[in-house]
Amino acid sequence: MASFSQQVKDEIIRLELSGRQHCIKAELAAIIHLAGSLHLVGREQVALSVATESAGIARRIVKLFKAAYTLEGEIQVEEVGKLGKLRRYIIKISPQPELNELLLELGLLSRENTLENDIKPQLVKERCCRAAFFRGAFLAAGSITDPQKKTYHLEMIVHNEDFSNGLIYLLNLLGIKAKIGQRKGKHLVYLKDSEAIAKFLSLINANTGVIKLEEVRVIKSLRGEVNRLVNCETANLEKTLSAAWEQVENIQKLRGSPAWFDLPENLKITAELRLEHPEASLKELGEYHQPPLSKSAVNHRLRKIRELAAKVSKRESGAGS
Ligand SMILES: [Zn+2]
Repeated sequence: MASFSQQVKDEIIRLELSGRQHCIKAELAAIIHLAGSLHLVGREQVALSVATESAGIARRIVKLFKAAYTLEGEIQVEEVGKLGKLRRYIIKISPQPELNELLLELGLLSRENTLENDIKPQLVKERCCRAAFFRGAFLAAGSITDPQKKTYHLEMIVHNEDFSNGLIYLLNLLGIKAKIGQRKGKHLVYLKDSEAIAKFLSLINANTGVIKLEEVRVIKSLRGEVNRLVNCETANLEKTLSAAWEQVENIQKLRGSPAWFDLPENLKITAELRLEHPEASLKELGEYHQPPLSKSAVNHRLRKIRELAAKVSKRESGAGS
């Protein structure tokens, strides 16, 4: 079965392109920033290539290019990985005037032809464009851990710090809690909070992803509830046992003193049953009696025994001084 990451990406890929040019350009800008590279051809001419491991994503990138620009380009397929099992799809756009316009408009090059590493503010003014931007960012550089795993995690790998700061800033504007980090010289923007991840997924319209995440969240919280109940019962059991051991000590103290012979017969029976069944609960202890006793009757007898044992202790310590 496809990983959760792939499922989310497949869902986004299938989304219709927005009819709005601003959203198409925002999605494309994020993809080129994160998965594209610029090459100098000759002295001044620039070529662009955008690489992805998924045929579906490659198709969507081509669609986005076509919806907003008229460019000449081609797709190359490379086999990668040890056994050539993985493929890489590279969309190559050779130098042409409209490419320069695109790079300028999408904020990849400045007017002076220098590389731009931050997010061009005009592209992400509207909420719809911010959503489109993150859709592109997730397709190009994102991954998400299966929510069934112990911790929730969604991340986007970014090549430079300015861009990761831009992503964090935008996520903040959208009310999505994100963090910044580094791994092997690359920058990460990541989300750890299940609520933030749900918000992010619904922002980029990965609705099936949101539903699955919510389901798992409910199951996990129920499981937490059950664990709490079990822990609570264990705590009660421990309380019962420590009380029982105290009773056993009291009874042994009484048995070693003359007071034992004065002990009323009914208390003696309960005391002996307690010694025989040190781990029984009060209810169980009651059931060992003939005829059976209620829990509160057993409790009453054990309280008497404790009082008598306390008197014995007092007498002993008095005699000792
Ligand atoms: Zn828009």
